[in-house]
Amino acid sequence: MANKPRILIVEDEPGIADTLQYVLATDGFAPVWCSTAEEALRQFAAEAPALAVLDVGLPDMNGFELFRRLQALPGGSQVPMLFLTARSDEIDRVVGLELGADDYIAKPFSPRELVARVRTILRRSVRHGAEPRVPHGNSPAVPPTMAPPLLHAAAPVWQLDAERHQIRFYGRALELSRYEYGVLSLLVRTPGRVYTRDALLLQVWGGDNASFDRTVDAHIKTLRAKLKTIAPTLEPIRTLRGTGYALNEDLPGAPL
Ligand code: CA
Repeated sequence: MANKPRILIVEDEPGIADTLQYVLATDGFAPVWCSTAEEALRQFAAEAPALAVLDVGLPDMNGFELFRRLQALPGGSQVPMLFLTARSDEIDRVVGLELGADDYIAKPFSPRELVARVRTILRRSVRHGAEPRVPHGNSPAVPPTMAPPLLHAAAPVWQLDAERHQIRFYGRALELSRYEYGVLSLLVRTPGRVYTRDALLLQVWGGDNASFDRTVDAHIKTLRAKLKTIAPTLEPIRTLRGTGYALNEDLPGAPL
């Protein structure tokens, strides 16, 4: 009998929590729902989950504070955490890496997208040599294991300063528009991860219906032009034909 990975859901809106529990359970996870931060701290202390999904807007504590407190619990720093955010200023804080959360997802979100993200995060630890925690039918029970350090994974080629909304490429600050910053900061904090245009639209533009694929392409184009002024021969942003974009993980330590 397979032991399903426990996913702690901290969300005060029952409708959202129900949907999350349903899709996660359908996908082979064991969701545990807490509607308050206090309850989440209790649950987490009793048994660390494989991953935690934290709403930023909770009634008794904001999600960032909860994140810090969970991290301080025994084993807490080893549990990947994913934020649910409804406001763009919250997204900036999460993307800005000051917290070191593993990922975020903007509301309103597609439940399938969230489950895909949960799987990706859990697989990342597999790639980094930890025990697999992604359910695949008859896998044996595995304990929660070390999540890889994701903070500043691409430094020193990239430096991200969330408070100033600034990104440095090889030490030189880029002049970025709001959406250019949104796209690049997302790529920089997840080197190598492929984002479809839809995923970028959802995460950076918040799924604004007035935005289209070509909006993403246009911003990638201007970003590339700005990066070229610093490193003319490098391709920091890869295009995966028919799929989307990813940050090039193989940049040299200094621009050529
Ligand atoms: Ca909420």
